[in-house]
Amino acid sequence: MTNKRLIVLTGPSGVGKGTLVGSLLQRHPELCLSVSATTRSPRPGEIHGKNYYFVDQQRFQKMIAADELLEWAEFATNYYGTPKAPVEKLLAEGKFVLLEIELQGARQVRKTFPNALQIFILPPSGEELERRIRGRAQDSEEAISRRLQRARDEIAAKNEFDIQIVNDDLETALAEIEKAIFSVDK
Ligand code: ADP
Ligand code: 5GP
Repeated sequence: MTNKRLIVLTGPSGVGKGTLVGSLLQRHPELCLSVSATTRSPRPGEIHGKNYYFVDQQRFQKMIAADELLEWAEFATNYYGTPKAPVEKLLAEGKFVLLEIELQGARQVRKTFPNALQIFILPPSGEELERRIRGRAQDSEEAISRRLQRARDEIAAKNEFDIQIVNDDLETALAEIEKAIFSVDK
């Protein structure tokens, strides 16, 4: 299956993916965000069914076994995955569907949807990435160091993606993403 309306957004934790996606969704009602399932605990303010489907390990394993996930990965000791059915339904309706997922998941999607638009978001620097993760103040010290290590691995794979966008100035990054998404054939 191929589809240019499927957009994969990947980049290290803390780079600003959630912030960028929030603005994109506000500005473009035709964009839909796929809600992932995760075994991670909710952060303050996160809502089940909106930010994630928060599930336990057992439920997650069942989703894998029943082939209900388009892709899934382990990230920083938790599991994350994209429920397949809603994505297929939205694409069939002609919507633009955004997946905000990490590297291993992006690699799996590349196999199923080779024509998906794959965007990698970079931080202006490693120091700024660490500042942003710490500024969010929602992760333990251990979780922060796991995320920083993973960030280095993810950034090393940036050239696997169709385009790389630096999230330094938010508005500039948003404009670049919009250009990439909406210059695609409709
Ligand atoms: P991610 O979803 O990639 O983990 P978040 O969207 O949670 O990242 O952003 C991490 C932190 O960085 C947040 O505090 C957010 O406000 C901040 N941030 C995001 N984009 C920018 C930017 N362009 N400049 C400065 N801070 C930013
Ligand atoms: P967080 O715990 O900060 O919300 O997310 C951690 C990482 O998991 C981020 O890089 C995020 O993009 C990624 N992620 C979120 N949902 C999914 C998903 O469904 N699949 C995969 N592979 N990664 C995901």
